[in-house]
Amino acid sequence: MVKENDKCIVILLGTAQDAGIPQVGCSCANCSRAIMDNKYNRCAASLGILNPHSGNGYLIDATPDFKEQMILLKEIKHKYLSTSTRPPIGRGRYDLGLKGIFLTHAHMGHYTGLLQLGKEGCSAESMPIYLTRSMKKFLAGNQPFKDLIRSHHVIPQTITPGKPCLTEKNLAITPIMVQHRHEYSDCVGFLLAGPNKRLLYVPDMDVLTRTILDLIPKVDIAILDGTFYSGEELPPHRNFEDTPHPTILKSIRELSPYSKRTRIHFTHFNHTNPVLDPDSDPAKYVKSLGFGLVPERWTFRL
Ligand SMILES: [Zn+2]
Ligand SMILES: [Zn+2]
Ligand SMILES: [Zn+2]
Repeated sequence: MVKENDKCIVILLGTAQDAGIPQVGCSCANCSRAIMDNKYNRCAASLGILNPHSGNGYLIDATPDFKEQMILLKEIKHKYLSTSTRPPIGRGRYDLGLKGIFLTHAHMGHYTGLLQLGKEGCSAESMPIYLTRSMKKFLAGNQPFKDLIRSHHVIPQTITPGKPCLTEKNLAITPIMVQHRHEYSDCVGFLLAGPNKRLLYVPDMDVLTRTILDLIPKVDIAILDGTFYSGEELPPHRNFEDTPHPTILKSIRELSPYSKRTRIHFTHFNHTNPVLDPDSDPAKYVKSLGFGLVPERWTFRL
C-alpha cells in the first residue's frame, strides 16, 4: 500500500491551445470574458509533475507562458513538498525546481518557452530536455534554439516512442507516438505511471489512432486534445483541414465505450470552444456524459 504522500503530484499548468486565452486581438465571447475577468484566462497546455520521493520536478512542454507556469509549479512544490531539498539548477541565484522538460512537438505553444532558459533569461545550465530525434533535429537546426543547445543551457536527451525515457522510484514516463501534422517535427504524448495510477497525456493530435485507443482502457486517467467542440468554430478564412483535431463531439462518440473504466478529460481548448463557458449547454452536455473538462491548475496524485 503506497502512502498518500509518496504518490506523484500532477498539476495542469495550462489548458489552452497554443495561443492561450484570451487570444491576441480577439474579441469573441470567450476572449472578452477572459479580458474582463482574469479567472477565465488560460495558459497554453502544459503539465507539471512532482515526485515526493525524489523531490524532482518535471514539465511537459515549455509554452509561451513558461514564466508564469514555473512560478505556479514552485508554489505547488512548496505547498506539497516543503520539507524536500530543491534540486540545484545553475549557479546560486536560479532555481527552477526542474530536473527535466519533456517536449511533445514543434508547434508554437509547446516549445518556445525554452527561450527563457537562454542567456537573455535565466541562463540555465544543462537542463535536460527529453525529445524525439526529429524534434532534436528541428531545434539543433534552427536559431535561436540551436544556440541554447550549443551553449549547454539545455542538453537534449533523445527519446523513442514506446520506450520508457525516465524511470525513478514512484515515477515512470514513456513517450507515445501521436499523429499530428508533422510539419517541423513528429509528435508524442506521454504515459505517466505513478505508484498508484497511470495517466495518458496527449494534448495535441489530428486523430485518435489505434495506439491511443488501445492505451485508454489501460490507464486510470486520460487527458486528451479537446481543441474544438465541433467543426463549426473556425472563421470562414480558416480551413479545418489545415488544423485537424478530433472534435470533442467526435471523441465522445468514439470514447464512450472506455469512459466507465477510465476518467477521460479534455484540454488544449481553442479560444472559440464553447465549453470554455462553464454554464454553456456544450459544457453541461460533455459533463453529463461522464467526460471532464480540465480546469486550470487541476492538481491530483498518481
Ligand atoms: Zn498545440
Ligand atoms: Zn477569442
Ligand atoms: Zn500542435
